[in-house]
Amino acid sequence: MKGNIFIISAPSGAGKTTLCRMLLESTPGIVFSISYTTRPPRPGEVDGKDYYFVDEKSFMDMVRAGEFLEWAEVHGNLYGTSKKKTLEIIQHNTDVLLDIDVQGAAQIRQKGIEATYVFILPPSLDALRKRLEHRRTDSEEIIMRRLQNAIEEIRAYSEYDYIIVNDRLEVALEYLRSVVLSRRVEKKRISHEWVRKTFLT
Ligand code: ADP
Ligand code: 5GP
Repeated sequence: MKGNIFIISAPSGAGKTTLCRMLLESTPGIVFSISYTTRPPRPGEVDGKDYYFVDEKSFMDMVRAGEFLEWAEVHGNLYGTSKKKTLEIIQHNTDVLLDIDVQGAAQIRQKGIEATYVFILPPSLDALRKRLEHRRTDSEEIIMRRLQNAIEEIRAYSEYDYIIVNDRLEVALEYLRSVVLSRRVEKKRISHEWVRKTFLT
């Protein structure tokens, strides 16, 4: 049985990284898909854990070699998901979490790959600005660019299967975990052969 693919998108600052980290820590059987990016690491970010940090030439070589399931330019940097690594994870009945932007999610949807799409919304634009400011990882200029992009990204919300408003963090986490866990118990995932042999013969 293959694992499920979960695609999570949100405007920058909505709390997606925080929620994904908490989900991964509290939920066995799901792993994070580590993207490739040309963005420089933020303080504390580790190569091979948060992202694979690469230069633009290496990234474009991977694009030309068809190594990405999807890739996009986001906030002036390139980001992409490795096809091979993602498919390897789900081959072994492990779920995979893709933290990608709305353009990348649209590419995967267009390819007809089976996945569950989750969109995280902040409670308001004002809350979003405050979260970006409090995070203290980006300059004023970058925060302004991310806020402008937020409106465009939010326009794509209706393409997603689940919409979670991240107001109280614990509540949002509970909803996110529920989405992941409920996909695991869908009828189509049970081995009918096992039910038949174990109970019905
Ligand atoms: P994203 O990955 O969506 O850009 P982050 O996870 O980095 O966002 O969160 C942005 C900031 O908002 C961080 O400082 C984080 O601690 C804070 N944050 C996340 N969720 C909440 C929440 N529910 N309430 C208040 N602050 C939050
Ligand atoms: P950040 O620079 O804050 O880590 O991420 C910026 C944006 O890039 C976020 O919306 C994040 O979801 C998105 N992103 C991260 N990895 C990928 C990826 O592999 N593909 C795409 N399309 N977007 C990504």
